[in-house]
Amino acid sequence: MSRADISLNRFAEDKLAELEARQQRRRLDVSDNTSGMRVRRGGRDFVNFCSNDYLGLSQHPAVLDAARNAVTEYGAGSGASRLVTGGYSALFELEAKLAAFKGTEDCVVFGSGYMANLAITPALVGAGDLILIDALAHACLFAGAQLSRARPVRFAHNDMGDLRRLLEKHRAGRERAIILTDGVFSMDGDIAPLPELLALAEAFDAWTLVDDAHGLGVLGRGKGTAHSFTSPAAAPLQMGTLSKSLGSYGGYLCASRAVCELLRSRARPLVFTTAPPPASIGAALKALELIETGAVDTDRPLALARRFCRSAGLAEPATPIVPVILGAEEHALRASRELNALGFLVTAIRPPTVPDGTARLRITFSATHDEADVDVLAAAVAELRQNAVAAE
Ligand SMILES: *Cc1c(COP(=O)(O)O)cnc(C)c1O
Repeated sequence: MSRADISLNRFAEDKLAELEARQQRRRLDVSDNTSGMRVRRGGRDFVNFCSNDYLGLSQHPAVLDAARNAVTEYGAGSGASRLVTGGYSALFELEAKLAAFKGTEDCVVFGSGYMANLAITPALVGAGDLILIDALAHACLFAGAQLSRARPVRFAHNDMGDLRRLLEKHRAGRERAIILTDGVFSMDGDIAPLPELLALAEAFDAWTLVDDAHGLGVLGRGKGTAHSFTSPAAAPLQMGTLSKSLGSYGGYLCASRAVCELLRSRARPLVFTTAPPPASIGAALKALELIETGAVDTDRPLALARRFCRSAGLAEPATPIVPVILGAEEHALRASRELNALGFLVTAIRPPTVPDGTARLRITFSATHDEADVDVLAAAVAELRQNAVAAE
């Protein structure tokens, strides 16, 4: 081995040892879907309670057919960036359908939700501008903020008093300001107070980007978080993913025509990357159609989460993401193993994905879960929590 190989490997091994010591080393398991919400891991079958496939559409026969048909029609890959020859017609069709569904003028599709957030913020703000970001926003909103070279300032999670204070302090003297938030927070399952947030944004002439990765297909009869309030609270920049309730892969931004056109010309993760593959776009188109036409029950994931929480003695959930916060990493890991032994796959979520001392189980509900499985899981979680209290 060359000197550089040796120093490189030593660096990686030292870092891994540090992670191991903090119980933060991750291992990637083979997880093969067998049917519905069932998954095979290490030769054993589990009911999957940690998928984001809220409607089970990644396995829906009509969605699979649509993916196959798109491959037949357009091929396995798109061959180039959309600015060159990667723009097959299904991509444009999906953008038109998403814009119509969300009630915006236009939509741009990206390679993934993560890429969409790397694209949007840097295309709109730059050095000297102001970014206000919820402290618990998704990692890719932070990554987009960082790439923009504007100055990100965190506001306390869902705290509109803090957001107002920071706008009062930092807004003056900056040309542009943008507020970044999740619609549904991915690790806590709570919802951003969009009506109040958008009123503040308006008062301070700040733009708002809402990441609705976990709202689309699940809240507001499938239309997303903006439609879960008494009157719709739609931000000017509505981002989301094709990778969760749509059961496919990709990301999008629904916005005005001018904003979408600007992104088509200037968003680097669109310009300098190959257009998403036809199978994913064909699948997403069919999934969206199933949601729009009411062929799938978009209310069921939340209804199952409510049933679970009532039965497990947890507070009423606002979304199908239910966190069971256990504190230390080892408590969450042990709880996850105990649920594995009962045939449930529920992963432990640990720092740095969540703040220190808030390691948790994150349980997600899908329309394709059975009530019986939900009830058995609820009884197991109720017992886990009782034992945790007794142990303290
Ligand atoms: C999953 C997720 C993303 C990333 O979407 P992908 O399509 O998986 O890249 C972005 N934001 C939030 C809030 C998410 O939960």
